[in-house]
Amino acid sequence: MSTKTDTAPATFIDEGAIISALIGGARVDAGRIREIFAKAAEADGLTLDEVAALTTISDPELLAELFATARRVKEDIYGKRLVLFAPLYVSNLCENDCLYCAFRVRNKELKRRALTQEEIRHEVGILVDQGHKRVLLVAGESYPKQGFQYVLDAVASIYEVKRGNGEIRRVNVNVAPLTVDEFRALKATGIGTYQLFQETYQRETYSRVHLGGRKKDYDWRVTAMDRAQEGGIDDVGIGVLFGLFDWRFEVLAILQHIRHLEQTCGVGPHTISMPRLEPAIGSDIAGQPPHPVSDLDFRKIVAILRLAVPYTGMIMSTREGPSLRRESFALGVSQISAGSRTNPGGYTEDTVSDMEQFQLGDHRTLDEVIRDVAEMGYIPSFCTACYRLGRTGADFMDLAKPGEIKHHCDPNALSTFLEYLEDYGSTETVAKGEKLIAETIETMGERERATSTKLIDQVRHGQRDCLI
Ligand code: SAM
Ligand code: SF4
Repeated sequence: MSTKTDTAPATFIDEGAIISALIGGARVDAGRIREIFAKAAEADGLTLDEVAALTTISDPELLAELFATARRVKEDIYGKRLVLFAPLYVSNLCENDCLYCAFRVRNKELKRRALTQEEIRHEVGILVDQGHKRVLLVAGESYPKQGFQYVLDAVASIYEVKRGNGEIRRVNVNVAPLTVDEFRALKATGIGTYQLFQETYQRETYSRVHLGGRKKDYDWRVTAMDRAQEGGIDDVGIGVLFGLFDWRFEVLAILQHIRHLEQTCGVGPHTISMPRLEPAIGSDIAGQPPHPVSDLDFRKIVAILRLAVPYTGMIMSTREGPSLRRESFALGVSQISAGSRTNPGGYTEDTVSDMEQFQLGDHRTLDEVIRDVAEMGYIPSFCTACYRLGRTGADFMDLAKPGEIKHHCDPNALSTFLEYLEDYGSTETVAKGEKLIAETIETMGERERATSTKLIDQVRHGQRDCLI
């Protein structure tokens, strides 16, 4: 039953199979690697053995081909859009003891705080006034006296905020694993994606870095997405905290997790997140990762995942600095956070804090990030259409797979970008953005151009939330 405390061991992460695939992958020659590139270019996904082979590439020529193939697949499926969101840390109370996180229970240097519903609405007001439409609610694994109801109330508080043309249209949630009944209640609040990272799929490392609290139970965590689906949440996001264990192992384990969800729930995850360990107060391991992932390895991870699961969104957080973010957009990242704070109340206070979860690599405002993204030729998108029109889970994948989603996404991206420019953009960003919109429409096919022109016209005439 869903409330049990000792979870049966999950067998879908098969460490033996991962190790064998990695050993086999290391023996693969350049000819075979090129065959894998050719298959990957068809955007049909790859097997565990094929992905293992790609993780071993170090030859500069093959690396360049890997990146070029990933770029092509990313462009074909996602075009030039980049979805933007802001994390909202509502509480840093936590009863777990994850060695890498500043929120862990034994960290006495951290000031603890759970925002009241009033404070949550205030923070959201600030995000809405910046132009955000999507929020990722984040909390430690312990709630104020209301218990889990606190999270449900927080989602409702976020949706309640309306300011001028502004509102949050999609709340995604990153909180501790829940029971099926709790997932059902969470779904009823109208969330978009439920997101949870396994941190590391390698059991021994997992035990070594999770010293106390419910999070010690690897199986309870790794089966969370099965319970989420049972509770009616068909948009789920998985992830790994890179730096805890060998990234090659983790990439193959992600693939095993995805195949398991596809087999048992009929649909894989909506997104994969790829945080790297960042320094955090009260955590030695966060500043000195046991398996550091270099920028080059990080780019390989993005490119390989793009080829392995072409239709799954990839999220990169504020944790990465601007130049790596830029390169990763081209290779496969489809969503980014912008203007983020990782401490409860961080948008209100706007100062470096002794309450934050980890240090940020990117301190630019939303407007600066948008301008930069637009200058690179990417369309910043605040689109929330799929989830609000019921295109979630398998329905989303059905639409995504034949490349059909582009006809919806590009026009929706342009209309929500224009909303941003009209309501919140600085003069400089408006100039760059309008130029990008005009250029993008020029290069569109007839059908997309007609839809985009119609939506854009509506926005220029004062309508908002114009979607197809
Ligand atoms: N408490 C819930 C949990 O652990 O799943 C959700 C919130 S937790 C703050 C969200 C994520 O932050 C974790 O899953 C972990 O991957 C990430 N995180 C924790 N410490 C980090 C660090 N030092 N650097 C980067 N990411 C970190
Ligand atoms: Fe708590 Fe999550 Fe941080 Fe672990 S990662 S200490 S569970 S907030």
